[in-house]
Amino acid sequence: MNSEIKTCQNCKKDFTIEPDDFSFYEKIKVPPPTFCPECRYIRRLLDRNEYNLYKRKCDATGKSIISIYRPEALFPVYEQEYWKSDEFDALQYGRDFDFSRSFFEQYEELRRVTPHLAMVNSNSVNSEYTNQSQNNKDCYMLVTSGSNEKCMYGSWCQRNCYMLSDCYLANKCEFCYECMNITKCSRCAWVYDCSDCVNLFFSKDCKGCTDCFGCVGLRSKQYYYFNENIGKEEYERRVKNIIWSRDFIKETLEKFEKFYTRLPVKFYHGFQVKDSTGDYIENSENMRYSFNCRNNKDTAYIQDAWEQIVDCMDCTEIIISELSYEVQGVEIPHRCIAVRSCFNTITDSCYCDMCFGVRECFGCFGLKHNEFCILNKQYSKEEYFKLKEKIIEHMRETKEWGEYFPSEVSPFAYNESMAQDYFPLSREEALKKGYKWYDRPQREYGATMFTKDLPETFSDIKENIGDEVIQCSSQNSPEGKKKYVLCATAFKITPLELTLYKIFNIPIPDKCFPCRRQDRFAKRNQRKLWRRTCVCDKKNHFHGVNKCEVKFETAYATENPAIIYCEKCYQQEIY
Ligand SMILES: [Zn+2]
Ligand SMILES: [Zn+2]
Ligand SMILES: [Zn+2]
Ligand SMILES: [Zn+2]
Repeated sequence: MNSEIKTCQNCKKDFTIEPDDFSFYEKIKVPPPTFCPECRYIRRLLDRNEYNLYKRKCDATGKSIISIYRPEALFPVYEQEYWKSDEFDALQYGRDFDFSRSFFEQYEELRRVTPHLAMVNSNSVNSEYTNQSQNNKDCYMLVTSGSNEKCMYGSWCQRNCYMLSDCYLANKCEFCYECMNITKCSRCAWVYDCSDCVNLFFSKDCKGCTDCFGCVGLRSKQYYYFNENIGKEEYERRVKNIIWSRDFIKETLEKFEKFYTRLPVKFYHGFQVKDSTGDYIENSENMRYSFNCRNNKDTAYIQDAWEQIVDCMDCTEIIISELSYEVQGVEIPHRCIAVRSCFNTITDSCYCDMCFGVRECFGCFGLKHNEFCILNKQYSKEEYFKLKEKIIEHMRETKEWGEYFPSEVSPFAYNESMAQDYFPLSREEALKKGYKWYDRPQREYGATMFTKDLPETFSDIKENIGDEVIQCSSQNSPEGKKKYVLCATAFKITPLELTLYKIFNIPIPDKCFPCRRQDRFAKRNQRKLWRRTCVCDKKNHFHGVNKCEVKFETAYATENPAIIYCEKCYQQEIY
């Protein structure tokens, strides 16, 4: 079969359907998609709010709770314990399917009356403000993270992290601040793409290093300062003499950025991939256009998917999956189409939402360990299969079959959803594209401290800092207000984060958590790929006197000034 060019029904741009895609659609019996891969990804992201948390009442118990749904949401919201208990059974909202109407219309009616789970936070201790998370202790504003202690303001912190703040993608790390993509690191700050490192500052792409400052691409080194070996004595003298002021940190970050853009980088982040394209990818084979994935085989358009993902397309935030399509935020989906926010397992099911451990369910919301249900109504096995086939036929006619849930009915506005993180838009742009936007009510926090009054260093911090309501520095200018659409406008310092600032002897931040998060995300490559060529012209490489002509797809955009090398050239340049 040949590839085919189609026009996206959402953005109206052309996109290509590859031969591999067609065989997958055939295998799972869905028509080819009408949206381009990026619009399909955004449609899934629009369904996902990770860290915009609201105080509201539980509609069952009346208790004050934290939820990802606003108080004015059009459907009931239950606190977790009650929702998961036997007190609540979503089968009571079951209904017949009406073949004179569209599926999504009827599904949406069911969803609107069925109670939603306030947030997903299981087995955690003293970690009320954590979402899509489990087994955490004493954590605060931490999302998509599990088994951590004393971690805050981060996402994807996994496997026994301890005392991290403002980190994205950390595995088995301790005492780290403002880091991204780190594994087994300790006492690191402003460190990116590093593993097995201790006492690193402002560094990137280092492995097995200790006591390094401003370093890039080092392996098993110690006492390096901007990639220069300066020896123990001199290194310690320099680091000891640093006055960790707000200005020093800002200047060093700028200097470091200039430094690393002069050094070559590999065209993707990751390792051990075969016939695969994407960024932040590991141990995968025949994986196409995927981001933050490991252990994928024969997959395409996958994001944040880990462990045994086989033969899947268009899945976001999943773990262990086979033959699934258009899935978002699901644990262990097998042979599923268009399912979202489901946990434990979900097997042989379509168009299900917020279900736990179900199999053979179709168009269901909020079921727990059920089977043979359609629109939350119980059927016998025989009736179920008959009716399911009939509904699929109906959905083929209405052109709904194979399409993910429409974004118009997402419970979240664009700027509350993860779409804003990966594809940030201004209010005007979002509305112009037809997305919903949430205008937060004007908040009057009565700030007691402003940017100009912020303590310059840690030792300038006064004892009562925890009482201060600090105005976020994004609020100081109209440009800042416009750029940081999720700004909380003011913030407070918690005792836990202060402990970490003390360990590093650094000043408190001048921006609120959502603004800091936005700055961190802006440092990362976008989740898109561009066709580029290796820029290496070293004479001692395999390409000899000629410039390297190896081509690849890379998340470093065409206009990105970084020096992008192919795998082979990069390996020859690593220290
Ligand atoms: Zn599109
Ligand atoms: Zn802010
Ligand atoms: Zn090359
Ligand atoms: Zn080369």
